[in-house]
Formats: sequence, C-alpha cells, structure tokens
Amino acid sequence: MAQMLCKKHGTMSPSFVAPKIAELVRNNVDIEKGVLNEIALPLPFDKKGVFLIDSDFIQEFNIPLVISDEEIGFEIYSLLVPICSSCLNEWKQKISHTD
Ligand SMILES: [Zn+2]
Repeated sequence: MAQMLCKKHGTMSPSFVAPKIAELVRNNVDIEKGVLNEIALPLPFDKKGVFLIDSDFIQEFNIPLVISDEEIGFEIYSLLVPICSSCLNEWKQKISHTD
C-alpha cells in the first residue's frame, strides 16, 4: 500500500476512513463514540479490510451493514480518504477516554 507523509509521524502507511472522520482526526476534534462504526469491506485487490466510518456517512451513502459483494465494497472504499494510522490510533485512544 502507498505511504503517506504525516507532519507528526513522518512516513506512514495510511488508514482509510470516512471523510468526516479524517477531518476530525486532522483537527484533533472529539466525536461521540456512538456515531462511529467499523465496516468490513470485501476488496478485489486486498484481503478484507475493516474501516472506520460515521453514521452520517452511512446515511448519506445508504451503506448496508454487511457487504459481501466486492464491487460494492470497492465503491464504498473509493469514498474513503487516507489518514495517518498513528494519528488515527491516537485519536481513537483519546476519544475512548471521553464520554
Ligand atoms: Zn500521524
């Protein structure tokens, strides 16, 4: 997978998340945990990946909870944006301590 450059962590492999989540991670803004969902996508080029999305994203694109079709999986994947994996993990840690 391609690498990306993070101002804080240097060269990292990206995680793919819904655009809103990427924005929150970049700006280090909290979100209610209840709106977060992990979705498993079957992808034609990779093993099944699990991606973090939010309830707005699910509603906007009418995302089914279980996806078994690779084409649909790829369509959804192409809507996601890359974010530094370490920044994402730090953000997840941070929001897991808030309510
Ligand atoms: Zn980072």
